[in-house]
Amino acid sequence: MKDFHFTIPQDVIFGKGSFERLPEILRKANCKNVFLISDPGLKKVGLVDRAAKIIQNADLQYTEFLELQPNPTVHNVTEAVKAFKASDAESIIALGGGGPMDVAKATGLLATYGGTVIDYVGLEKVSGSVVPMIAIPTTAGTGSEVTASSVITDSETNFKMSIISHYLIPQYALLDPDLIMTLPASIAAACGVDAFIHAMEAYLSKMGNPFTDAMAEKAMEMIGRSIRAFVASRDNEDAACDMMIGSNLAGVAFASALLGNIHAMSHPVSGFFGVAHGVANAILMPTIVEYNALADNGRYRKIYDYIALGKKSDDSFTSDMLVATLKKLNEDLGIPANLTAVGVTEDKLPEMVADAMKSGNILRNPRQSTSKDVEMLYRKAL
Ligand SMILES: [Zn+2]
Repeated sequence: MKDFHFTIPQDVIFGKGSFERLPEILRKANCKNVFLISDPGLKKVGLVDRAAKIIQNADLQYTEFLELQPNPTVHNVTEAVKAFKASDAESIIALGGGGPMDVAKATGLLATYGGTVIDYVGLEKVSGSVVPMIAIPTTAGTGSEVTASSVITDSETNFKMSIISHYLIPQYALLDPDLIMTLPASIAAACGVDAFIHAMEAYLSKMGNPFTDAMAEKAMEMIGRSIRAFVASRDNEDAACDMMIGSNLAGVAFASALLGNIHAMSHPVSGFFGVAHGVANAILMPTIVEYNALADNGRYRKIYDYIALGKKSDDSFTSDMLVATLKKLNEDLGIPANLTAVGVTEDKLPEMVADAMKSGNILRNPRQSTSKDVEMLYRKAL
Protein backbone atom coordinates (compact mmCIF):
# COMPACT_ATOMS: atom_id res chain seq x y z
CA MET A 1 0.00 0.00 0.00
CA LYS A 2 1.18 3.54 -0.82
CA ASP A 3 1.91 6.09 1.95
CA PHE A 4 -0.83 8.67 2.39
CA HIS A 5 -1.87 11.71 4.36
CA PHE A 6 -5.56 12.30 5.02
CA THR A 7 -7.04 15.35 6.73
CA ILE A 8 -10.47 16.94 7.03
CA PRO A 9 -9.90 20.19 8.86
CA GLN A 10 -13.36 21.74 8.83
CA ASP A 11 -16.67 21.45 10.66
CA VAL A 12 -19.44 19.88 8.60
CA ILE A 13 -22.88 20.78 9.95
CA PHE A 14 -25.86 18.97 8.46
CA GLY A 15 -29.55 19.47 9.14
CA LYS A 16 -32.85 20.34 7.55
CA GLY A 17 -33.34 24.04 8.28
CA SER A 18 -29.73 24.45 9.44
CA PHE A 19 -29.45 27.61 7.28
CA GLU A 20 -31.05 29.40 10.26
CA ARG A 21 -28.04 28.42 12.39
CA LEU A 22 -25.78 30.77 10.46
CA PRO A 23 -25.55 33.42 13.25
CA GLU A 24 -24.48 30.72 15.72
CA ILE A 25 -21.66 29.69 13.39
CA LEU A 26 -20.62 33.30 12.78
CA ARG A 27 -20.41 33.91 16.53
CA LYS A 28 -18.38 30.74 16.97
CA ALA A 29 -16.06 32.04 14.25
CA ASN A 30 -15.81 35.38 16.10
CA CYS A 31 -17.23 37.25 13.15
CA LYS A 32 -19.35 40.40 13.46
CA ASN A 33 -19.01 41.66 9.91
CA VAL A 34 -19.53 39.27 7.03
CA PHE A 35 -19.12 39.42 3.24
CA LEU A 36 -21.48 37.16 1.31
CA ILE A 37 -20.63 35.95 -2.19
CA SER A 38 -23.46 34.48 -4.24
CA ASP A 39 -24.92 34.90 -7.73
CA PRO A 40 -27.79 36.75 -9.44
CA GLY A 41 -29.83 33.54 -9.83
CA LEU A 42 -29.93 32.94 -6.09
CA LYS A 43 -30.84 36.59 -5.51
CA LYS A 44 -33.77 36.13 -7.89
CA VAL A 45 -35.13 33.08 -6.03
CA GLY A 46 -34.86 34.90 -2.70
CA LEU A 47 -32.07 32.87 -1.07
CA VAL A 48 -29.64 35.78 -0.85
CA ASP A 49 -32.29 37.95 0.81
CA ARG A 50 -33.07 35.13 3.23
CA ALA A 51 -29.40 34.93 4.20
CA ALA A 52 -29.29 38.73 4.61
CA LYS A 53 -32.31 38.65 6.91
CA ILE A 54 -30.90 35.84 9.08
CA ILE A 55 -27.57 37.69 9.43
CA GLN A 56 -29.03 41.15 10.04
CA ASN A 57 -31.62 39.86 12.55
CA ALA A 58 -28.66 38.63 14.59
CA ASP A 59 -27.22 42.19 14.62
CA LEU A 60 -24.29 41.28 12.43
CA GLN A 61 -22.94 43.53 9.67
CA TYR A 62 -23.42 42.34 6.12
CA THR A 63 -22.30 43.12 2.55
CA GLU A 64 -23.25 41.10 -0.53
CA PHE A 65 -21.40 40.54 -3.81
CA LEU A 66 -23.24 38.90 -6.71
CA GLU A 67 -21.40 39.91 -9.88
CA LEU A 68 -20.32 36.46 -11.07
CA GLN A 69 -20.39 34.75 -14.42
CA PRO A 70 -21.45 31.06 -14.49
CA ASN A 71 -17.78 30.12 -15.06
CA PRO A 72 -16.23 32.86 -12.86
CA THR A 73 -13.44 34.97 -14.35
CA VAL A 74 -10.33 36.74 -13.06
CA HIS A 75 -12.26 40.02 -13.42
CA ASN A 76 -15.03 38.70 -11.11
CA VAL A 77 -12.42 37.91 -8.48
CA THR A 78 -10.69 41.31 -8.82
CA GLU A 79 -14.02 43.08 -8.28
CA ALA A 80 -14.91 40.82 -5.34
CA VAL A 81 -11.57 41.56 -3.65
CA LYS A 82 -12.16 45.34 -4.03
CA ALA A 83 -15.66 45.05 -2.55
CA PHE A 84 -14.44 42.79 0.26
CA LYS A 85 -11.72 45.27 1.28
CA ALA A 86 -14.19 48.17 1.17
CA SER A 87 -16.56 46.26 3.45
CA ASP A 88 -14.03 45.71 6.28
CA ALA A 89 -15.57 42.25 6.73
CA GLU A 90 -13.84 39.53 8.77
CA SER A 91 -15.30 36.42 7.14
CA ILE A 92 -16.65 35.32 3.78
CA ILE A 93 -19.84 33.32 3.30
CA ALA A 94 -20.10 31.49 -0.03
CA LEU A 95 -23.71 30.72 -0.86
CA GLY A 96 -24.27 28.76 -4.05
CA GLY A 97 -22.85 26.12 -6.33
CA GLY A 98 -19.26 25.93 -7.50
CA GLY A 99 -19.02 29.50 -8.87
CA PRO A 100 -19.54 31.48 -5.64
CA MET A 101 -17.28 29.02 -3.75
CA ASP A 102 -14.49 29.36 -6.31
CA VAL A 103 -14.68 33.16 -6.16
CA ALA A 104 -14.93 33.19 -2.34
CA LYS A 105 -11.77 31.07 -2.00
CA ALA A 106 -9.81 33.22 -4.45
CA THR A 107 -11.11 36.42 -2.80
CA GLY A 108 -10.05 35.25 0.66
CA LEU A 109 -6.62 34.45 -0.74
CA LEU A 110 -6.01 37.67 -2.70
CA ALA A 111 -7.44 39.88 0.07
CA THR A 112 -4.87 38.34 2.43
CA TYR A 113 -1.74 38.14 0.28
CA GLY A 114 -2.36 40.44 -2.72
CA GLY A 115 -1.31 39.62 -6.28
CA THR A 116 -3.56 38.10 -8.93
CA VAL A 117 -5.07 34.66 -9.51
CA ILE A 118 -2.26 33.57 -11.84
CA ASP A 119 0.34 33.98 -9.05
CA TYR A 120 -1.21 31.07 -7.14
CA VAL A 121 -2.20 28.66 -9.92
CA GLY A 122 -0.97 25.14 -9.22
CA LEU A 123 -0.51 22.96 -6.19
CA GLU A 124 0.07 24.43 -2.71
CA LYS A 125 1.37 27.86 -3.71
CA VAL A 126 -0.38 29.61 -0.79
CA SER A 127 1.88 30.35 2.18
CA GLY A 128 -0.62 30.47 5.06
CA SER A 129 -4.17 31.00 6.33
CA VAL A 130 -6.61 33.13 4.35
CA VAL A 131 -9.84 34.96 5.32
CA PRO A 132 -12.08 32.44 7.18
CA MET A 133 -14.89 31.08 5.04
CA ILE A 134 -18.27 29.48 5.63
CA ALA A 135 -19.56 27.50 2.65
CA ILE A 136 -23.27 26.88 2.12
CA PRO A 137 -23.93 24.72 -0.96
CA THR A 138 -27.18 25.21 -2.85
CA THR A 139 -26.55 22.36 -5.25
CA ALA A 140 -25.56 18.72 -4.76
CA GLY A 141 -23.07 19.29 -6.11
CA THR A 142 -19.59 20.40 -6.55
CA GLY A 143 -18.38 19.33 -3.11
CA SER A 144 -16.49 22.63 -3.20
CA GLU A 145 -17.55 23.29 0.43
CA VAL A 146 -14.92 20.76 1.52
CA THR A 147 -12.29 20.99 -1.20
CA ALA A 148 -9.03 22.85 -1.51
CA SER A 149 -9.48 24.09 -5.06
CA SER A 150 -10.69 27.25 -6.72
CA VAL A 151 -11.22 27.21 -10.49
CA ILE A 152 -11.16 30.60 -12.23
CA THR A 153 -11.37 31.20 -15.99
CA ASP A 154 -8.86 33.38 -17.81
CA SER A 155 -11.26 35.09 -20.24
CA GLU A 156 -8.48 35.90 -22.72
CA THR A 157 -7.37 32.29 -23.26
CA ASN A 158 -10.52 30.49 -21.98
CA PHE A 159 -8.19 28.42 -19.78
CA LYS A 160 -9.69 27.31 -16.48
CA MET A 161 -6.99 27.92 -13.89
CA SER A 162 -6.94 25.84 -10.69
CA ILE A 163 -5.53 27.08 -7.42
CA ILE A 164 -5.16 24.10 -5.09
CA SER A 165 -4.13 24.70 -1.49
CA HIS A 166 -5.34 23.22 1.78
CA TYR A 167 -5.44 26.81 3.13
CA LEU A 168 -8.45 27.41 0.83
CA ILE A 169 -10.61 24.75 2.52
CA PRO A 170 -13.59 26.53 4.14
CA GLN A 171 -13.68 26.37 7.96
CA TYR A 172 -17.36 25.52 8.03
CA ALA A 173 -19.59 23.62 5.60
CA LEU A 174 -23.26 24.16 6.37
CA LEU A 175 -25.42 21.54 4.65
CA ASP A 176 -29.14 22.26 4.60
CA PRO A 177 -31.08 19.92 2.27
CA ASP A 178 -33.96 22.44 2.19
CA LEU A 179 -31.75 24.62 -0.02
CA ILE A 180 -31.66 22.06 -2.85
CA MET A 181 -35.30 21.03 -2.75
CA THR A 182 -36.41 23.76 -5.18
CA LEU A 183 -33.66 23.25 -7.80
CA PRO A 184 -34.75 22.94 -11.45
CA ALA A 185 -34.57 19.30 -12.62
CA SER A 186 -31.87 20.03 -15.22
CA ILE A 187 -29.52 21.52 -12.60
CA ALA A 188 -30.26 18.72 -10.13
CA ALA A 189 -29.34 16.23 -12.89
CA ALA A 190 -26.11 17.89 -14.04
CA CYS A 191 -24.86 18.59 -10.50
CA GLY A 192 -25.93 15.14 -9.28
CA VAL A 193 -24.01 13.31 -12.03
CA ASP A 194 -21.01 15.57 -11.37
CA ALA A 195 -21.08 14.57 -7.68
CA PHE A 196 -21.24 10.89 -8.68
CA ILE A 197 -18.28 11.41 -11.02
CA HIS A 198 -16.28 13.06 -8.18
CA ALA A 199 -16.78 9.91 -6.12
CA MET A 200 -16.09 7.56 -9.04
CA GLU A 201 -12.95 9.37 -10.24
CA ALA A 202 -11.62 9.58 -6.66
CA TYR A 203 -12.33 5.84 -6.24
CA LEU A 204 -10.41 5.02 -9.42
CA SER A 205 -7.66 7.64 -8.90
CA LYS A 206 -4.05 6.58 -8.62
CA MET A 207 -3.88 8.78 -5.51
CA GLY A 208 -6.75 7.07 -3.70
CA ASN A 209 -6.22 5.53 -0.26
CA PRO A 210 -8.42 3.56 2.18
CA PHE A 211 -9.84 6.79 3.70
CA THR A 212 -10.81 8.29 0.34
CA ASP A 213 -12.14 4.89 -0.81
CA ALA A 214 -14.47 4.77 2.20
CA MET A 215 -15.78 8.28 1.50
CA ALA A 216 -16.11 7.61 -2.24
CA GLU A 217 -17.95 4.32 -1.76
CA LYS A 218 -20.46 5.80 0.69
CA ALA A 219 -20.95 8.75 -1.68
CA MET A 220 -21.63 6.40 -4.63
CA GLU A 221 -24.04 4.36 -2.50
CA MET A 222 -26.06 7.44 -1.42
CA ILE A 223 -26.02 9.18 -4.80
CA GLY A 224 -26.57 5.92 -6.70
CA ARG A 225 -29.73 5.04 -4.80
CA SER A 226 -31.20 8.57 -4.87
CA ILE A 227 -30.11 10.51 -7.96
CA ARG A 228 -33.01 9.35 -10.14
CA ALA A 229 -35.64 9.95 -7.45
CA PHE A 230 -34.14 13.37 -6.66
CA VAL A 231 -34.17 14.54 -10.28
CA ALA A 232 -37.73 13.21 -10.62
CA SER A 233 -38.92 15.16 -7.52
CA ARG A 234 -36.59 17.57 -5.77
CA ASP A 235 -39.03 17.77 -2.87
CA ASN A 236 -38.33 14.10 -2.05
CA GLU A 237 -36.75 14.73 1.33
CA ASP A 238 -34.90 11.43 1.74
CA ALA A 239 -33.42 11.73 -1.75
CA ALA A 240 -32.37 15.36 -1.12
CA CYS A 241 -30.59 14.36 2.12
CA ASP A 242 -28.77 11.52 0.31
CA MET A 243 -27.69 13.85 -2.48
CA MET A 244 -26.51 16.60 -0.13
CA ILE A 245 -24.44 14.26 2.06
CA GLY A 246 -23.31 12.10 -0.86
CA SER A 247 -22.02 15.14 -2.72
CA ASN A 248 -20.18 16.30 0.42
CA LEU A 249 -18.54 12.89 0.97
CA ALA A 250 -17.50 12.82 -2.69
CA GLY A 251 -15.89 16.24 -2.15
CA VAL A 252 -13.94 14.93 0.85
CA ALA A 253 -12.78 11.95 -1.24
CA PHE A 254 -11.57 13.94 -4.22
CA ALA A 255 -10.00 16.70 -2.12
CA SER A 256 -7.37 14.06 -1.22
CA ALA A 257 -7.50 11.56 -4.10
CA LEU A 258 -8.00 14.13 -6.89
CA LEU A 259 -9.86 13.12 -10.06
CA GLY A 260 -9.14 11.80 -13.56
CA ASN A 261 -9.57 12.31 -17.29
CA ILE A 262 -13.27 13.24 -17.08
CA HIS A 263 -12.51 16.40 -15.12
CA ALA A 264 -9.25 17.10 -16.97
CA MET A 265 -11.16 17.02 -20.27
CA SER A 266 -14.37 18.75 -19.14
CA HIS A 267 -12.67 22.00 -18.09
CA PRO A 268 -11.70 22.94 -21.68
CA VAL A 269 -15.24 22.05 -22.84
CA SER A 270 -16.61 24.58 -20.33
CA GLY A 271 -13.78 27.07 -20.93
CA PHE A 272 -14.13 27.22 -24.74
CA PHE A 273 -17.84 26.56 -25.19
CA GLY A 274 -19.45 27.70 -21.92
CA VAL A 275 -20.97 24.25 -21.28
CA ALA A 276 -22.03 23.81 -17.62
CA HIS A 277 -19.42 21.84 -15.66
CA GLY A 278 -21.76 18.99 -14.68
CA VAL A 279 -23.14 18.60 -18.21
CA ALA A 280 -19.63 18.50 -19.74
CA ASN A 281 -18.55 15.84 -17.24
CA ALA A 282 -21.68 13.75 -17.68
CA ILE A 283 -21.32 13.68 -21.49
CA LEU A 284 -17.65 12.65 -21.29
CA MET A 285 -18.28 10.02 -18.58
CA PRO A 286 -19.30 6.91 -20.63
CA THR A 287 -16.51 7.41 -23.21
CA ILE A 288 -13.80 7.74 -20.57
CA VAL A 289 -15.14 4.93 -18.38
CA GLU A 290 -14.99 2.70 -21.48
CA TYR A 291 -11.37 3.81 -22.15
CA ASN A 292 -10.33 3.24 -18.52
CA ALA A 293 -11.80 -0.30 -18.48
CA LEU A 294 -8.39 -1.65 -19.46
CA ALA A 295 -7.05 -0.50 -16.07
CA ASP A 296 -9.94 -1.88 -14.03
CA ASN A 297 -8.82 -3.98 -11.10
CA GLY A 298 -12.26 -5.09 -9.97
CA ARG A 299 -13.64 -1.70 -8.97
CA TYR A 300 -15.98 -1.33 -11.96
CA ARG A 301 -18.18 -4.09 -10.60
CA LYS A 302 -18.57 -2.24 -7.28
CA ILE A 303 -19.37 1.04 -9.05
CA TYR A 304 -21.97 -0.80 -11.13
CA ASP A 305 -23.61 -2.20 -8.00
CA TYR A 306 -23.96 1.34 -6.60
CA ILE A 307 -25.38 3.00 -9.71
CA ALA A 308 -27.37 0.24 -11.47
CA LEU A 309 -30.44 0.80 -9.35
CA GLY A 310 -32.22 -2.43 -8.46
CA LYS A 311 -29.66 -4.64 -10.24
CA LYS A 312 -26.79 -6.55 -8.68
CA SER A 313 -23.86 -7.89 -10.69
CA ASP A 314 -22.81 -11.54 -10.71
CA ASP A 315 -19.66 -13.24 -11.97
CA SER A 316 -20.70 -12.61 -15.55
CA PHE A 317 -20.11 -8.86 -15.02
CA THR A 318 -18.20 -7.04 -17.78
CA SER A 319 -17.14 -3.39 -18.00
CA ASP A 320 -19.58 -2.84 -20.92
CA MET A 321 -22.41 -3.25 -18.42
CA LEU A 322 -21.16 -0.25 -16.43
CA VAL A 323 -20.71 1.84 -19.59
CA ALA A 324 -24.26 0.97 -20.75
CA THR A 325 -25.70 1.82 -17.30
CA LEU A 326 -23.97 5.22 -17.29
CA LYS A 327 -25.27 5.98 -20.80
CA LYS A 328 -28.77 5.04 -19.68
CA LEU A 329 -28.41 7.19 -16.54
CA ASN A 330 -27.55 10.22 -18.69
CA GLU A 331 -30.47 9.47 -20.98
CA ASP A 332 -32.90 9.09 -18.04
CA LEU A 333 -31.71 12.38 -16.56
CA GLY A 334 -32.01 14.32 -19.83
CA ILE A 335 -28.26 14.82 -20.39
CA PRO A 336 -27.32 15.18 -24.11
CA ALA A 337 -25.61 12.12 -25.62
CA ASN A 338 -22.60 13.87 -27.16
CA LEU A 339 -20.51 17.05 -27.20
CA THR A 340 -21.82 18.13 -30.61
CA ALA A 341 -25.29 18.46 -29.07
CA VAL A 342 -24.00 21.15 -26.67
CA GLY A 343 -22.23 23.15 -29.40
CA VAL A 344 -18.68 21.78 -29.19
CA THR A 345 -16.88 21.95 -32.57
CA GLU A 346 -13.73 20.25 -33.86
CA ASP A 347 -11.84 23.46 -34.65
CA LYS A 348 -10.88 24.00 -30.99
CA LEU A 349 -9.62 20.44 -30.47
CA PRO A 350 -5.86 21.22 -30.51
CA GLU A 351 -6.27 23.90 -27.80
CA MET A 352 -8.65 21.71 -25.78
CA VAL A 353 -6.20 18.79 -25.85
CA ALA A 354 -3.33 21.08 -24.79
CA ASP A 355 -5.35 22.51 -21.87
CA ALA A 356 -6.58 19.07 -20.74
CA MET A 357 -2.98 17.80 -20.67
CA LYS A 358 -2.04 20.69 -18.33
CA SER A 359 -4.52 19.43 -15.73
CA GLY A 360 -2.96 17.51 -12.86
CA ASN A 361 -5.92 15.12 -13.02
CA ILE A 362 -4.56 13.42 -16.18
CA LEU A 363 -1.78 12.00 -14.00
CA ARG A 364 -4.27 10.51 -11.51
CA ASN A 365 -6.32 8.76 -14.18
CA PRO A 366 -6.14 4.96 -13.81
CA ARG A 367 -5.07 4.49 -17.45
CA GLN A 368 -2.07 6.53 -18.65
CA SER A 369 -3.03 9.01 -21.34
CA THR A 370 -1.05 10.88 -23.97
CA SER A 371 -2.31 13.89 -25.89
CA LYS A 372 -3.18 11.51 -28.77
CA ASP A 373 -5.40 9.48 -26.40
CA VAL A 374 -7.10 12.65 -25.16
CA GLU A 375 -7.73 13.80 -28.73
CA MET A 376 -9.19 10.39 -29.62
CA LEU A 377 -11.48 10.57 -26.56
CA TYR A 378 -12.72 14.06 -27.50
CA ARG A 379 -13.42 12.87 -31.06
CA LYS A 380 -15.31 9.85 -29.73
CA ALA A 381 -17.40 12.04 -27.41
CA LEU A 382 -18.24 14.52 -30.20
ZN1 LIG B 1 -16.90 18.31 -10.93
